[in-house]
Amino acid sequence: MSDFKAFLSELDNRGIKYVREYELCGASTFKIGGKATVAVIPENCDDLVFAIDKGYEYKKKLHVLGRGSNTLFSDDGYDGILILTKGLCSIADKGEGILECSAGASLGAVSAFAADRSLSGFEFASGIPGSIGGAMFMNAGAYGSAMSDFVIDSLAYDLEKKKTVTIREHEFGYRKSIYSRDRRLICLSVRIKLHEGNCEEIKEKIRALAAERRSKQPIEYPSGGSYFKRPEGYFAGKLIEDCGLKGLSVGGAEVSEKHAGFIINKGGATSCDVLKLEEKIRKAVYERFHVLLEREVEYVD
Ligand SMILES: Cc1cc2nc3c(=O)[nH]c(=O)nc-3n(C[C@H](O)[C@H](O)[C@H](O)COP(=O)(O)OP(=O)(O)OC[C@H]3O[C@@H](n4cnc5c(N)ncnc54)[C@H](O)[C@@H]3O)c2cc1C
Repeated sequence: MSDFKAFLSELDNRGIKYVREYELCGASTFKIGGKATVAVIPENCDDLVFAIDKGYEYKKKLHVLGRGSNTLFSDDGYDGILILTKGLCSIADKGEGILECSAGASLGAVSAFAADRSLSGFEFASGIPGSIGGAMFMNAGAYGSAMSDFVIDSLAYDLEKKKTVTIREHEFGYRKSIYSRDRRLICLSVRIKLHEGNCEEIKEKIRALAAERRSKQPIEYPSGGSYFKRPEGYFAGKLIEDCGLKGLSVGGAEVSEKHAGFIINKGGATSCDVLKLEEKIRKAVYERFHVLLEREVEYVD
């Protein structure tokens, strides 16, 4: 039996779900990508850890994916094991404003869960289409708040030591954390602390932020959100707009007319289209402003 078949039979024996030849365009908000050799969908932490350990044992390339909202997959697909966290989506109310969220829980679900319990603070995250794990990796933020403002601690699987560790020092910075610095750490769950508020006011704030996003961001098209990191002292979208690049396109990829910081998939875009457009933008912005834009979206091939 090949190593790969042995890996799949280990998953079968443990009852862990997986899909072979998994279509990546359905796993990323960009709606782009070929196929992954296999996508594993564990439903609890022990199975996630098992799948990761066995995956590495069989020496396949391995990537952990949350909701795919900061990820651009290659048209050629991913020749390896994709571990999806979306099956780990529990959220528990621990009292005194503390919520314990599994890594695959969506930010929208956590903010709605908090709102239902009159817990305020997490409204900022309601419109970010990511998972708790992805948000920890990125220190996701919006409207003046970020994950770092609410996290008490997190539980991680340390691939090197092969054990679960509690992390209290997350080294949060702008769109970075200990998880993006040390990729051997896989976030399993997070505890956040929120404060008491008024349920109706919290829900109203969530509605208002959603309306603001709809008016300013091209959420009607597939994308990976803000494509570039914010360069120090500038806004990427403003630099791109000032270069007159709104509407610039390569194949199906286009600089959004609504928000120049977004590259959108207007229909049938390939990862090649997106990467070529990225290069054109980077060159134009550098020539005009001498600012080198860095990609925020992660390219996985
Ligand atoms: C329309 C739109 C609007 C957006 N608005 C915002 C915004 O306002 N603010 C903002 O910050 N971002 C925004 N984003 C970007 C994105 O939603 C966030 O970065 C989000 O946190 C990514 O989470 P994810 O689960 O989708 O990550 P993924 O794309 O699945 O993964 C991103 C990275 O995180 C790693 N990762 C995922 N889960 C784990 C885990 N459990 N442990 C360790 N590593 C893990 C992955 O390996 C990968 O390297 C937006 C995106 C879109 C499409």
